[in-house]
Amino acid sequence: MRVSKLFGKTLREAPAEAETVSHRFLLRAGMIHQEAAGIYSLLPLAWRVLRKIENIIREEMDAAGGQELSMPVLQPLEIWLETGRDQDFGKGLFTLTDRRDRKLALGPTHEEIITQLVSRNVQSYQDLPQLLYQIQTKFRDEPRPRGGLIRVREFIMKDLYSFDASEEGLSLSYDRMLEAYQNIYRRCALPTLLVEADSGAIGGKDSHEFMVITETGEDELIYCDSCDYSANVEKAQSVKERLPEEEPLPLEEVATPGMTTIEQVSSFLGVPPSCTLKAVFYLADEELVFIVIRGDIEVNETKLKNLLHCSELGLAPEAAVTKAGIVAGSASPIDISGIRVIADESITSGANFVAGGNKPDTHVKNVNYPRDFKVDVVADIARARAGEGCPRCGGKLSSTRGIEVGHIFKLGTVFSEKLGALYTGADGVSHPIVMGCYGIGLARVMAAAIEQNHDDKGIIWPLPIAPYHVYLCPLYLENPQVAAAAENLYAELESLGAEVLFDDRKESPGIKFNDADLLGIPFRITISPRTLEKNSAELKKRSEKEFELVPLEGIAARLKELVRGGLST
Ligand SMILES: [Zn+2]
Repeated sequence: MRVSKLFGKTLREAPAEAETVSHRFLLRAGMIHQEAAGIYSLLPLAWRVLRKIENIIREEMDAAGGQELSMPVLQPLEIWLETGRDQDFGKGLFTLTDRRDRKLALGPTHEEIITQLVSRNVQSYQDLPQLLYQIQTKFRDEPRPRGGLIRVREFIMKDLYSFDASEEGLSLSYDRMLEAYQNIYRRCALPTLLVEADSGAIGGKDSHEFMVITETGEDELIYCDSCDYSANVEKAQSVKERLPEEEPLPLEEVATPGMTTIEQVSSFLGVPPSCTLKAVFYLADEELVFIVIRGDIEVNETKLKNLLHCSELGLAPEAAVTKAGIVAGSASPIDISGIRVIADESITSGANFVAGGNKPDTHVKNVNYPRDFKVDVVADIARARAGEGCPRCGGKLSSTRGIEVGHIFKLGTVFSEKLGALYTGADGVSHPIVMGCYGIGLARVMAAAIEQNHDDKGIIWPLPIAPYHVYLCPLYLENPQVAAAAENLYAELESLGAEVLFDDRKESPGIKFNDADLLGIPFRITISPRTLEKNSAELKKRSEKEFELVPLEGIAARLKELVRGGLST
């Protein structure tokens, strides 16, 4: 491909809205264009990367016994009502009405459709197991699209669904997919960490995410320094320090003028935040709920959402709290009524806490549970933190950040029971089919690869997913010898099957080198009047600073070997 003909222009500066490294470089490299919030066009270079990722995924799915098919993006809304997942997805589900006033949904995922399809095509245990997949566009109306291709509203995903006769069968399918996923990331040269994950709106029991570790990742990950426990913070559990038990003292009102936050109250009264009770208010599908949690611990909204079985959860605005007759900033669980109170397990150890007084500028000392207040539910709704204890071995937890590039779920029989996907067993009895589902967002893999492989000048593509293998960079093309040598080498490389981006522009060396670094093609060959004096060219890897002077004769064959070597690992 000649750079002069390449569709997509490089930019010196990234537009201001670019927040992450991958977003910035994809925009600057002219690889993507935003059409609306979370909706992008992929230009030719990005599309080539995506197609390579897609090929690797398809090969691994086929090798694991998957059969590819294609299901519609447009789905009847009734099927979503049948499983109740229109509620789980809430506003994340794009819906529309056709000309006959029938409601349709744009598929965010395909469990409903495929379960129905399988129920019509599987009768007996002999028809199982099945591994069915597609690579197709999905739609999710994300509340906060961000990070370029990381969190978008329209994206291409590989989704595979497994159908088995038993839980043991599901475990085998799950392990097989786990291995296939590890092969995919290895082949994309993208190291990942496997973590326990929340199942979210997909539902089901066990689930794991594959995470690319990067400081800019949107997910916080908790892992143990001593064993192999690792989990997304949304799911992570931890053993929290238990506070000493003390003799409960009588309640005592104290004036706290102008103090509304835990930090203010605890420093004013000279008690650590862990000796206070924090009140947090949420709106769960319009219902105001009162959360009581120890002052030093944060609420894990995913755990809370799972506990409340709601589709929308957000912090309640102060007006909603005041309207319920509660004094925001001094809210107290004592004598509260007409509102559900959810407490974190952290309030069950320790004694004589400071809590709100439900009067302006007033708090109460020596609050003890359950002596002084009642709650509707006590559960683990706490966010795990580095430094706390591992739930598996008691070791110390640490934290890092990552980008999710794959998510696999053991669904069990949730969908097959609701949609009547049954098979007849060897016993002649009808059973629900046991399911799993396995997803990878293709553009996310591309973005994560950039987050993990870049420097301040641009992208450093891993060879297997690079848009091209070689950047052929002749300098001073007005020199006829340079032009002739470059054209000859371009033709030779192409004839050997190398993927070459030929910078045939009459631009300055500075511009050409900057673009080569920005686009991140793994190998760069520079030809100039100076290298031609030695009948040579400079060969440089994008990942290395040094170059090597190589005789022109044989350089194409040498590159072919380098590319082949890089692709076979
Ligand atoms: Zn551990």
